[in-house]
Amino acid sequence: MLEAIEILKQLKTKGVRFTPQRQAILEFLLETKSHPTADEIYQHVKAKFPGVSLGTIYNTLNMLKEHGHLLELSYGDMSSRFDGNPRNHYHIVCSKCGMVVDYHSPLIDMDQEVMDNSGFLIMGHRMEFYGVCPDCLKDEKLN
Ligand code: ZN
Ligand code: MN
Repeated sequence: MLEAIEILKQLKTKGVRFTPQRQAILEFLLETKSHPTADEIYQHVKAKFPGVSLGTIYNTLNMLKEHGHLLELSYGDMSSRFDGNPRNHYHIVCSKCGMVVDYHSPLIDMDQEVMDNSGFLIMGHRMEFYGVCPDCLKDEKLN
């Protein structure tokens, strides 16, 4: 995975301006494993930059996504979660607390097969596992 400084350099050559707020958003996304929502990113960055707006969060997320430095995991009506690791990988979602964790496994090699059989131009695929996380399981047993 790229470091913040390398991403900043790459985007600078494309003419993207980086404010300290934008940099804080990027750094948080790279360091956290929590797959935060836009609001969680906002709360985190606001602690350091009280003047930051939700609009800045959203336009920075959109910009990072456009340039391929961010993965957006959307869940229908629920808020999207954001992942600073833009390479395709799999996730496990807890149906109780909503926690999303990475599950590292070799990517399933089916894109070509699906393309051949469907006539679609396949650009990627997404796979998620749903269940109850160890912490929620523990709580269930206690109650
Ligand atoms: Zn849970
Ligand atoms: Mn992830």
